Amino acid sequence: MIPLVKPYIAPASELLPAIQKVLYSGYIAEGEKVYRFEEELGNFIGNRKILALNSGTAALHIALSILEVGSGDEVISTPMTAEPTNTTIALTGAKIVWGDVDASTGLLDPKSVYEKITERTKAIMLVHYAGMICDMDAFNKISEETGVPVIEDSAHCFGGRYNGKVIGSNSRFTCYSFQAIKQMTTVDGGAIAFQNDEDLNAARKLRWFGLDKRVPRLQNDIVKAGFKYGMNNVTAVIGSIQLGYAQEIIEKYIGNGKYYDEMLKGINGINLVPYYPHTVPSYWLYTMKVEGRKDFCRMMEDRGITASPLHHRSDTHSVFAGSRCELPQMEEWYRSFVHIPCGWWVDKEARETIVNAIKQGW
Ligand SMILES: *Cc1c(COP(=O)(O)O)cnc(C)c1O
Repeated sequence: MIPLVKPYIAPASELLPAIQKVLYSGYIAEGEKVYRFEEELGNFIGNRKILALNSGTAALHIALSILEVGSGDEVISTPMTAEPTNTTIALTGAKIVWGDVDASTGLLDPKSVYEKITERTKAIMLVHYAGMICDMDAFNKISEETGVPVIEDSAHCFGGRYNGKVIGSNSRFTCYSFQAIKQMTTVDGGAIAFQNDEDLNAARKLRWFGLDKRVPRLQNDIVKAGFKYGMNNVTAVIGSIQLGYAQEIIEKYIGNGKYYDEMLKGINGINLVPYYPHTVPSYWLYTMKVEGRKDFCRMMEDRGITASPLHHRSDTHSVFAGSRCELPQMEEWYRSFVHIPCGWWVDKEARETIVNAIKQGW
């Protein structure tokens, strides 16, 4: 079976000696290796205000915590995402207000979000679902006009571009995940990129109990209780090596995605997803709408190809019952979207096989 997701791990000849070296170096906690990884990551993203963390969930939690999101507040979010986006908001005690998605893209519809902003709205949580990038032209305007900050959950979109720049400096917070199945993995890990130094400094404390690592421990004074969300030197060494391959790997996703964009045009029963202006998706999962999804997925499976919607809409989980509302565009999208394999493991032959299978019908 050609899978939908698969971790890319750098060659053992490079990775294993480096891991061995750091493991026995006498310093495996957060230290110089982490700070070096942050520098490299900052260069990759084009934003040096960046912190490495132990997960993408931690990145989201820190962003919400800096905004002092809590009970009585509202955060506008999308049901079309992986669970951590919304369970993390729930943990703060704030109410999730579901924005509807654009039925043609599955991404948050700016009009719906704008209509749902109230004086209690503390943040807009945008998810670049499956690597497709939200309508940032519209969301930038909304954020500017209303003053409501945007958190970009870019866990699916490491290396996607908006306005020619890698996603990571467009909003007040951009959160990444380096979990096993994401486009770049450190086994587990995450990062958060900022626009301003105050947020960066606040987050640096929040990732380590509220302590400032740059001040001697005995002289530290915790003002706000923080978490234990930092990255460690072992993971950071893996990250530095993985990052050396990231561009090449991401280009494979993008190359395959663009190939499908061309080759699947005009096929009966397939509706391709349009991309918003000035965006280049990272194509973590190739996404499209398909008529007769069940038959489609069965046909693909018979030919050894995984095809699946993969994600459960968030708003129907019991834990979010208090937020339930009508989302007509989401209904439409959720009925027919599907993912097909698109990543670095899909070579030219495999992608031809996939396109031919689809062209034969289901
Ligand atoms: C993976 C993921 C996260 C969380 O990342 P972890 O590193 O697993 O904590 C958050 N949001 C989305 C959309 C994700 O897919």
